[in-house]
Amino acid sequence: MDKKTSEKIKILVVDDAEVMRNLLTGVLTDSGYEVKAVSTGEKALGEIKEDDYDVVVTDLKMPGMNGIEVIKEAKQINRDICIIAITAYPSVKSAVEAMREGAYDYITKPFDIEEIRLVVRRAAERYFLLKEAGQKEFYRELAISDGLTGIYNHRHFHEVLPREIERAKRYSQPFCLLLLDIDDFKKYNDTHGHLAGDKLLMNIARILVATTRNVDIVFRYGGEEFVVILPQVGKQGGVSSAKRILKLIKQKLSVTASIGVTSFLEDGVSKDELINQADSAMCQVKKLGKDRICVFGEKNEK
Ligand code: GH3
Ligand code: MG
Ligand code: MG
Repeated sequence: MDKKTSEKIKILVVDDAEVMRNLLTGVLTDSGYEVKAVSTGEKALGEIKEDDYDVVVTDLKMPGMNGIEVIKEAKQINRDICIIAITAYPSVKSAVEAMREGAYDYITKPFDIEEIRLVVRRAAERYFLLKEAGQKEFYRELAISDGLTGIYNHRHFHEVLPREIERAKRYSQPFCLLLLDIDDFKKYNDTHGHLAGDKLLMNIARILVATTRNVDIVFRYGGEEFVVILPQVGKQGGVSSAKRILKLIKQKLSVTASIGVTSFLEDGVSKDELINQADSAMCQVKKLGKDRICVFGEKNEK
């Protein structure tokens, strides 16, 4: 196994026989793992509670707490811990029971050193890969989605918008950008409480996702501001979508919101310009009295 991986793996050896503890500790330490050995199941559980072990190699037949109990309890403490059971040849049945309780693999005695190395390496690699995959997925999700509403966040918007601009240029197609802001949200928070405010934000996100097409992309842009990108949609399409969204929000949530609409039609408009256009349309809506849409570059009347 390569050095980088082995450095991260910590193994606990549990065996009542000193000879076995020494043998396993020696072999596994030589393979580059960090190893600790204990003589009873009780001590093993104490270790697992105290420390972050990745793999446990445990004998099944021990005085006091036996290996099966160790497996059960260890899994309760750390669900992800990878356990290898060691059993004497005549009791393969107990190895099967160990697997049923959540052991990953077993080794029968007498074993040769290569066999231990192989089984432990497989377990360690599997553990390492699972852990890494889980973390990657977790951080990936965290990096692009908004914690409250679950839709894409501001950061992801700034990654997606340039891609949409490039695509629109390449295929000479328009797209629309809607910037939505809840009207008088401060008052809503003051009247109903911050938790109710959070719930409203979640419901608005839900409505935005439900009323737009699969290809449309919805983001939480800031506190109570949302952005929707509508690919391959011209200004008129954007206006109809925006109106539909406002109507539904009013109907279902009894609050009003305002939307600034801007459309990308030609080369030469940068990401920042587009955002500024949506912002300026939004300012105009608020000045005109909220609960409506404004299109950038058009005369929007009261
Ligand atoms: P306007 O009609 O002009 O948009 O007025 P407003 O009160 O909605 O405007 P403003 O943008 O000044 O206020 C936004 C408020 O949104 C302030 C802040 O307390 C609230 N807010 C921002 N993020 C969150 C959040 O995550 N949860 C809750 N409950 N409130 C938030
Ligand atoms: Mg605002
Ligand atoms: Mg607002």
